[in-house]
Amino acid sequence: MAAVEFVGIYKTYADGHPAIIDLNLNIKEGELMVCVGPSGCGKSTLLRLLAGLEEISSGRLLIGGKLANRLSPQERNIAMVFQDYALYPNMTVRGNLEFPLKMRKLSKTEIHSRTANVSAMLGIDEILERYPKQLSGGQRQRVAMGRALVREPAVFLLDEPLSNLDAKLRVKVRAEIGELQKRLGTTMIYVTHDQAEAMTLGQRIAVLNRGRLQQVATPKEIYEHPENMFVASFMGSPPMNLFATRLSLGQHGLPQIMLGDYPLPVVIPPDLPVATAGQSYIAGIRPEAFHLASEEDPGFPVDVEWIEYLGHETLLQFRLSGTAYGKERPAMTARLPSRHVVNKGEPIRLWVDASNITLFKDDGSGLSN
Ligand code: ADP
Repeated sequence: MAAVEFVGIYKTYADGHPAIIDLNLNIKEGELMVCVGPSGCGKSTLLRLLAGLEEISSGRLLIGGKLANRLSPQERNIAMVFQDYALYPNMTVRGNLEFPLKMRKLSKTEIHSRTANVSAMLGIDEILERYPKQLSGGQRQRVAMGRALVREPAVFLLDEPLSNLDAKLRVKVRAEIGELQKRLGTTMIYVTHDQAEAMTLGQRIAVLNRGRLQQVATPKEIYEHPENMFVASFMGSPPMNLFATRLSLGQHGLPQIMLGDYPLPVVIPPDLPVATAGQSYIAGIRPEAFHLASEEDPGFPVDVEWIEYLGHETLLQFRLSGTAYGKERPAMTARLPSRHVVNKGEPIRLWVDASNITLFKDDGSGLSN
């Protein structure tokens, strides 16, 4: 296993399209890093640059502390599992697992012991004599993982490895991959467009958008302290509620924002200049930060537009009552525990936990940027 460092990496394709822009990212030895972002953000390009399947335009790539820009894919010792698994259809599972080892001319005993170890670890030792077409989606996925693992790679890359599995199996295999990575301690980079997958799997998550790295942090940090509006809206489902507002100084000179006609206290970084009061911002509130108002916290009235009862929770879409936004009252989503029964059209009041309000600048960047 090895650490991976992208230092000021750019990738511009021959047609002039910049796919990766000034990427600086360190993946520690033995770490599972999840790269997440919408389609076209540059995830596959990042993996292909690392695997040596695309040439780096500029910047430095270090694998195990050594400059790897000019190394061939073979010299990098990186294994990659693709979306479609790319198993050899005319070889049995055993043949598929042994193939990369035969190519490296390892001894028969070595090939046998590595294949036996990996197939026992992945629970595929019962199906070694079957052909890919005789396997279920989950089994094929495991064989593809096995074929990558027998090589004992320095770095293991997974490109949307679960996208061909049904929802239930995906959850199961995802947990297995997480366990396997912990057990093996292999440096692993896992690419997905699915934010929920990234949240459950990643020790750290790297969020990409339009070729630029947006934030690298633990799932908790990303969720609670998104560095910019893109991360705030991409991570989390339903997404964070975002609305335009102004910062002002309320009672006792404490900063507050307006949610429609209702002032909400906010916590702002101590170094934010006071002169910025009065300036417009975008405020973000996670759906679960709304609560039904109580006598102590009378909150603000809202108009409920639809209700989705999900058993363990209820999603509520509402608009603020009042005139502050004119006809453009923003639609917001609240996530309430299901013990609260709310009916459509019923006048209700909500309140917000002030510590759960995140402010962004008008252009979507974070306050500290
Ligand atoms: P993702 O994996 O996140 O969907 P990609 O890395 O495949 O994104 O693509 C990033 C961007 O680079 C996209 O805009 C895509 O159209 C472009 N791109 C990818 N491969 C090529 C290529 N071979 N030539 C030109 N543009 C490409």
